[in-house]
Amino acid sequence: MKLFLVIPCYNEEAVLPETSSRLLDKYERLISEGKISSESKICFVNDGSRDKTWELIVDLNKSNPIFRGINLSRNRGHQNALLAGLMTVKDECDAAISMDADLQDDIDAIDKMVEKYHEGYDVVYGVRSSRKKDTFFKRTTALGFYRLMRSMGVDMVYNHADFRLMSKRALDGLESFKEVNLFLRGIVPLIGYKSAEVEYERGERFAGESKYPLKKMLSFAFEGITSMSIKPIRMICTLGVLIFLASIGILIYSLVQHFIGNTEPGWASIMVSIWAIGGLQLLAIGIIGEYIGKVYLETKSRPRFIIESYIK
Ligand code: UDP
Ligand code: MG
Repeated sequence: MKLFLVIPCYNEEAVLPETSSRLLDKYERLISEGKISSESKICFVNDGSRDKTWELIVDLNKSNPIFRGINLSRNRGHQNALLAGLMTVKDECDAAISMDADLQDDIDAIDKMVEKYHEGYDVVYGVRSSRKKDTFFKRTTALGFYRLMRSMGVDMVYNHADFRLMSKRALDGLESFKEVNLFLRGIVPLIGYKSAEVEYERGERFAGESKYPLKKMLSFAFEGITSMSIKPIRMICTLGVLIFLASIGILIYSLVQHFIGNTEPGWASIMVSIWAIGGLQLLAIGIIGEYIGKVYLETKSRPRFIIESYIK
């Protein structure tokens, strides 16, 4: 089995030497044990780094052809760099594993992933067994993020980042998702096929600093929701209906007050129109939004099905 590792790197000069030497050890062991073929490769994707990352990758490739490098024309962000790597190696490998450059993903989980692949799984998710080593802040925001995504109806694997094995045909499936707003964690479960999970302990970043500051994390979460779900639009619709219903209550209340004589002239009519028109406006926006949501999903032109087998 030809296994390709795909590792997006953005300004990772501090970790690359260590990462590459540990991965090389791992690969040599796996090859000597016959678990993966000797044509397996470790492929670094340079995502427009501004430091010496690419020079390091070139040197690695010169020192040992097991290392390969893909150089993106500029920084396109983690998700796009990952997709670029996976799509580039797809036709040469039997399966590809994506992981971070910073050794936070436990490389010993690779063994288990390969085992699962041999058992016949097409997608193997690396799942964090605990987040003890993450900061309190990262832990709570991450938990909130998964909850939010679930409530928005996005099918996501809990505590799984982008450390996963995908078989050739799962990668082919991924290729048929043409969307530009890319949220891989949400898309991979949509591909289907048999999947398994492998637990691992998430370590600390080995060196250098996180490339996901709060601002990027928030925009990643927002991207995740808006590229996978049109539920926010539905929520506007619901709110519109609720406010309109409330306006009926207000109508009754205002009429009662009016006839008791508790009101200034004009109060009742203004109260009722504010609520009724407000509710109707929200509802109208929601309905228009519903159509825009449909257009949005159509423009993604996602595959409507992926056939697993066809017996003749
Ligand atoms: N990364 C990238 N492009 C970017 C930002 C990050 O390719 O614009 C890579 C980075 O080099 C690393 C991975 O994405 O291999 C995950 O980033 P990081 O470890 O900083 O995120 P964290 O673990 O803090 O969430
Ligand atoms: Mg990291």
